[in-house]
Amino acid sequence: MMGEKTFTMIKPDAVNNGYIGAILEKICSGGFRITAMKMTRLTAEKVGEFYAVHKGKPFYNELVQFMSSGHIVAAILEKENAVEDFRKLIGATNPANAEEGTIRKLYAESMGRNAVHGSDSDENARIEGDFFFSALEKY
Ligand code: UDP
Ligand code: MG
Repeated sequence: MMGEKTFTMIKPDAVNNGYIGAILEKICSGGFRITAMKMTRLTAEKVGEFYAVHKGKPFYNELVQFMSSGHIVAAILEKENAVEDFRKLIGATNPANAEEGTIRKLYAESMGRNAVHGSDSDENARIEGDFFFSALEKY
């Protein structure tokens, strides 16, 4: 069964660079429907929880510092085959390797400051959506 939902964040670099509108436009014209969305800030502790899978990696501390440094926009997106199609729309983790026209190619600053998050599996999409949104907000 192909997943119908994914989770995204517009990261602090893109928020600060004024790209919220442009990124939401790419998401919507890519065929995704936004079903929940909020602008918020995360404490370092909450970022650590969200990225727990990367704990101990060389970039972890910088990631936690960066993701807690400013506002983010969190959203749940719906589309057939959402997880895979959204990863295609955002492009490679390192924007230098991202395909032309992808969100990271267009709007990311660097590997660390790469404009957007996209879930990597249906299970993580559910876990990450639950991390930000209550049942009532999601449905
Ligand atoms: N990251 C980094 N350096 C790396 C790998 C990852 O700064 O060598 C950051 C980057 O912001 C990335 C996030 O950590 O988006 C999570 O890494 P992951 O490998 O899950 O990449 P993603 O799924 O976001 O493409
Ligand atoms: Mg990832």
